[in-house]
Amino acid sequence: IEIAATDLIVLEELGKGGYGIVEKMQHRQSGLIMAVKRIKSSINDQSQKQMLNELDACRRSDCCPQMVRFYGAMFREGDVWICMEVMDTSLDKFYRHAYKIGKHIPEPFIGKMALSVIEGLNFMKEQLNLIHRDVKPSNILLNRHGQVKICDFGISGHLTNSLAKTVQAGCKPYMPPERIDGETKTAYDVRADVWSLGITIIEIAVGTHPYANWKTPFEQLKQVVKEPPPKLPSESGFSADCQFFVKRCLEKNYADRPKYPELLAMPFMEMARNEKQFSMARFINETVLVFIPHTSLHYPTSENNPKMFF
Ligand code: ADP
Ligand code: MG
Repeated sequence: IEIAATDLIVLEELGKGGYGIVEKMQHRQSGLIMAVKRIKSSINDQSQKQMLNELDACRRSDCCPQMVRFYGAMFREGDVWICMEVMDTSLDKFYRHAYKIGKHIPEPFIGKMALSVIEGLNFMKEQLNLIHRDVKPSNILLNRHGQVKICDFGISGHLTNSLAKTVQAGCKPYMPPERIDGETKTAYDVRADVWSLGITIIEIAVGTHPYANWKTPFEQLKQVVKEPPPKLPSESGFSADCQFFVKRCLEKNYADRPKYPELLAMPFMEMARNEKQFSMARFINETVLVFIPHTSLHYPTSENNPKMFF
């Protein structure tokens, strides 16, 4: 279907990020509910066209179950609107909430989450030759059915010319040593995303980002380059297979770091594939969805006062 910005009704805010705001919206004519990310963008017509073209490549990820469905993108008075499937929560909100209510993130959850993420990233690399470049907990989305999907594919790459660049300074470091220290000429390698996944796993397994947050962003980046890579604390009860998997993701020298086929063949991933007892859906529902009203089917009424655009 053809979607015009004027036909979209805002239902609620889903989150705010460095680039802009994400809102749940409903398409008036079809009733379709989607997540719309609105990005302030000062890029020119030429690069707008190029960005739309490249975002359009995301459509070809439609047959990949580990990717958030991409419905389309448009420009609205200089803003980029990216329309995608709505999910129930993101991994960052999820793990923080879990720790807040006194739960930890169990190893089978980590295994199955990592497996989905790697399968998704591997599909994009193999089929479309695309690299994510911004793997982190807030770009890994979850739903009540227990599905784990990646979003914001390649968007960060498209926004390097826009004002988005300036806000990066406030972000916690998920980038690997070679992106910080390396020659800028070096082509982006899939193994940058593997490092980011390793950091993500430690963050959710431990409950905090592994690089000290009292340091300035500049010092944090220095830590990534200078210090030994972070690892899962050995006393925390994670299996040897799990610890080894994370250790391999966080090889400081990217030439030593495994790519997706090797990761997928590791015992930790084999374990995640064969794990039949643990239910992602049950764990997600028990942890968070009882606290979130089930809103994805709600329709705008005069009470919730929908805001119309244009
Ligand atoms: P960031 O990823 O840097 O946090 P974003 O602007 O990409 O910033 O997203 C902001 C928040 O919006 C995310 O943390 C996530 O919780 C939420 N969000 C993004 N996309 C979706 C989606 N498709 N469905 C549900 N929530 C989403
Ligand atoms: Mg994001």
